[in-house]
Amino acid sequence: MTENEQIFWNRILELAKSQLKQATYEFFVLDAKLIKIENQVAIIYLDRMKELFWEKNLKPVILTAGFEIFNAEISVEYIYDEQAAIQEEQPVSEQSRNYTAPATLAPIQSDLNPKYTFDNFIQGDENRWAVAASIAVANTPGTTYNPLFIWGGPGLGKTHLLNAIGNSVLQDKPNARIKYITAENFINEFVVHIRLDTMDELKEKFRNLDILLIDDIQSLAKKTLSGTQEEFFNTFNTLHNHNKQIVLTSDRTPDHLNDLEQRLVTRFKWGLTVNITPPDFETRVAILTNKIQEYNFIFPQDTIEYLAGQFDSNVRDLEGALKDISLVANFKQIDTITVDIAAEAIRARKQDSPNRITVIPIEEIQSQVGKFYGVTVKEIKATKRTQDIVLARQVAMFLAREMTDNSLPKIGKEFGGRDHSTVLHAYNKIKNMISQDDGLRIEIETIKNKIK
Ligand code: ADP
Ligand code: MG
Repeated sequence: MTENEQIFWNRILELAKSQLKQATYEFFVLDAKLIKIENQVAIIYLDRMKELFWEKNLKPVILTAGFEIFNAEISVEYIYDEQAAIQEEQPVSEQSRNYTAPATLAPIQSDLNPKYTFDNFIQGDENRWAVAASIAVANTPGTTYNPLFIWGGPGLGKTHLLNAIGNSVLQDKPNARIKYITAENFINEFVVHIRLDTMDELKEKFRNLDILLIDDIQSLAKKTLSGTQEEFFNTFNTLHNHNKQIVLTSDRTPDHLNDLEQRLVTRFKWGLTVNITPPDFETRVAILTNKIQEYNFIFPQDTIEYLAGQFDSNVRDLEGALKDISLVANFKQIDTITVDIAAEAIRARKQDSPNRITVIPIEEIQSQVGKFYGVTVKEIKATKRTQDIVLARQVAMFLAREMTDNSLPKIGKEFGGRDHSTVLHAYNKIKNMISQDDGLRIEIETIKNKIK
């Protein structure tokens, strides 16, 4: 590399680092290399799966650095050589090279659900890293991130991704030995084999896998059944030593698996830990838009947005809502799902779902917030941006989202026709402020009590 190329590359790293979260930077940028610059094209060496990320997020950085250092528009080309990259990172151990599985292995039942693929998994900011890492693992199992540990709340797609990894590998290598199992079932199998005194069988079954996909590992933490953690630990070690891929999901981080032995927790953190958070409004709309293709009804856009506003923490609930709607619509022989029909169909489901109160009108919130801050409802709905009006407006939006059932677009409409993203921004901002400012939190509690 010439000196200028080095300066250019350092500048790119510096800019990328300042713009990305630490973990993102480490994951996507740190192992990239500049090969050379030729005819104003920077040739950058990458993992193939990271190209899209660079393409989407780092082009401006490359442009900026290009202008700063060369005073020219530098474009970019990516090259990949996955095999070389992997060998550099992780020399294959002597032991694993010599490893050959016994010749006569019983066929294995993968227990994968073929319904869950990468193709039908919608990507959003909330799951981008989890998807990227899962695809990387499916492309080069056992070598890139081992283990891969995916954690997040219920209904956010962990089981889906786990199966998608397995299904994707099977597509390329139909003979791969893949096992999907919940930690709960792992424990059950363990118990059965102990009782039948056939532990050797179990050992052989699990330790000759190419890929082990373990779902909901937190249930292993709950069980104090002596020996299961030990057996799991040994299985884990055998597979890992032989560069066999392990993917785990959990509802919490490795560090919060309280009842799990420390040595297991340590191993879970050897590879890559990625988090999935609840989908934002755009992602929910995208998931619904994708899902409704399975149904023979017409879903106008406002119905989709209405539904996306109703269930915001769990994709399973969104899917359940579509099933409810399809039942009602079939029964009534309706083919266009209006907002009213959707609302009627999901009523029972909404009543089951916690911490929502449906009866508070948004005007009531605006008026109570206004009274508290000495601002009129008219001012809250208008566009003036003095400090106290902005605070009142944002608090009212926050409460409208927290205390009522209305979708973000609907709330936006009630605040002088604002965009749903404005409401979301206000919501996030106030939520964040409350976590740092006890005074504000108490103010908002006080207003809330007046509204109830
Ligand atoms: P978890 O294991 O995290 O509890 P699941 O993987 O079982 O969640 O997901 C619940 C349902 O929601 C499944 O039917 C799954 O296909 C669907 N789902 C979750 N996230 C997405 C997504 N991003 N795109 C498409 N479907 C999704
Ligand atoms: Mg699951």
